[in-house]
Amino acid sequence: MRFRMTALHNKHSFALKAEASDYLAIKKLSDLEKIVWTKDSWILGAGSNTVFTQNYAGQLIHNCLSGGEISETDDSYELCIASGENWHEWVTRTVRQGIPGLENLALIPGSVGAAPVQNIGAYGVEISRFVTQVDVYDLAEHRSFHLAAADCQFAYRDSIFKKVEHASWFITAVHLSLPKDWAPVLEYPDLQGLPVRSDASQVMQKVIEVRQNKLPDPRQIPNAGSFFKNPVVDESHLEQLLKEYPDIPYFRINESQIKLAAGWLIDQAGLKTCSFGGAGVHQKQALVLVNRGEATGDDVLQLAQRVRQEVNKKFAVHLSPEVRLLGEKGLLSL
Ligand SMILES: Cc1cc2nc3c(=O)[nH]c(=O)nc-3n(C[C@H](O)[C@H](O)[C@H](O)COP(=O)(O)OP(=O)(O)OC[C@H]3O[C@@H](n4cnc5c(N)ncnc54)[C@H](O)[C@@H]3O)c2cc1C
Repeated sequence: MRFRMTALHNKHSFALKAEASDYLAIKKLSDLEKIVWTKDSWILGAGSNTVFTQNYAGQLIHNCLSGGEISETDDSYELCIASGENWHEWVTRTVRQGIPGLENLALIPGSVGAAPVQNIGAYGVEISRFVTQVDVYDLAEHRSFHLAAADCQFAYRDSIFKKVEHASWFITAVHLSLPKDWAPVLEYPDLQGLPVRSDASQVMQKVIEVRQNKLPDPRQIPNAGSFFKNPVVDESHLEQLLKEYPDIPYFRINESQIKLAAGWLIDQAGLKTCSFGGAGVHQKQALVLVNRGEATGDDVLQLAQRVRQEVNKKFAVHLSPEVRLLGEKGLLSL
């Protein structure tokens, strides 16, 4: 279905006022065949990692594909889920059916199709752990193909699907394999209080409780989750920072790379009360920027730039956005 001038405030969780001049809802696979891909086309899922800072002048292709199935082998449960399905609903559905695996990824907003795009992760687990195959329809070349997990280039909040040259790849379905030989992942500090023999349902309830306490619900306070990625620094940079800030939290990824907590850096840079117009830093979780009511795209961009500048000035650390910031014709960089 194609519409002209469609309101976007209810199609992205930051809820900024914006309109799309050309909006298409994809409800079945054959809808994809009719699309004429242009450079200013954009694929939209549930909009929880997307911020429309202006009216969108290009073609907006909204994924509304539905359906999915679960099968079983001796060793695993195999899921094949249409990309427009809601991610959290599949987490709860599987856990309630006694199928463990996805519990740490509960309450992450958004569609199944966007989950591999940024390799969603939370509480010590990333979706890449379970992906076996991603089904793709290339809207530019009008052909379908499958990508095995090993070819998806999964990394921290990254994958092959984020590359500009693959912007026309529409993910149609995601295949996950959940091993029956399961043990809870409880290393993350918020989950360490749980008994080591917790079942998936207990872990999921705890994750939901922690998230509800920490993160603003976009339905009440519009936001797009973590606005910035946690930055990665090298050993010598960490040593310098530790001299001045012995309490700085960090996580060693490997021998040469160390991940810092962007929320801590923003907080320590004195930005917790920082705001521009209707956009502000969330009081409980500084990594989340929020729309306090009537924020404009300009407010959000100015606030994000200020946060980046101050963190860079204080810690010589460069923050890059985790969210997809969209201007009139496509992706913006800060
Ligand atoms: C309150 C809150 C908490 C969050 N917590 C987390 C968290 O803990 N961990 C985490 O990783 N993320 C988190 N996020 C971010 C967000 O939930 C995820 O990035 C989610 O996967 C986005 O899904 P979406 O459908 O809303 O994507 P959208 O915002 O619609 O799109 C995101 C990107 O994926 C692309 N895309 C979407 N669908 C497709 C498709 N079918 N084919 C190809 N490309 C596609 C879009 O073009 C865009 O580049 C949070 C967000 C919010 C608002």
